Amino acid sequence: MECKDFKCPPDRTDCCCRRLMYTQPDFAKVESNLESVCRARGVNVIFLPKFHCELNFIEQCWGYVKQLYRMKERSSSEADLERNVLDSLNAVPQSSMQRFFVRSGRFVDAYKKGLDGKQAAWAIKKYRGHHILPESIMQELEQSR
Ligand SMILES: [Zn+2]
Repeated sequence: MECKDFKCPPDRTDCCCRRLMYTQPDFAKVESNLESVCRARGVNVIFLPKFHCELNFIEQCWGYVKQLYRMKERSSSEADLERNVLDSLNAVPQSSMQRFFVRSGRFVDAYKKGLDGKQAAWAIKKYRGHHILPESIMQELEQSR
């Protein structure tokens, strides 16, 4: 038995077999294959929410690479294109990567403090250069309304 569309009553864990199994620690806390393979190699896996590219600094690196790539001379030679891609990938300065990482961290901080996407973008622009936003950021937002 299963609740229709797996839309179970809130806070229930015994409404249907699927929910019951879903909430069992043996199933709920099981590590994915990706996680176990990476962990065995000493790599930490961080899962980010879908459709939030601002949280993943690699997206900003890709953007930087694309910008560099577009400035390269056009060519129809596969060898030229491959060289242009590799040159662009290698041309992202480490300082820029660090800046992108800090920026993504500021978005994480903003969301943790309860800001929505638009408010976070505003706050991050205002507090450029800060690693985290001030604790008073929500009050500041409410006063500016
Ligand atoms: Zn259910």
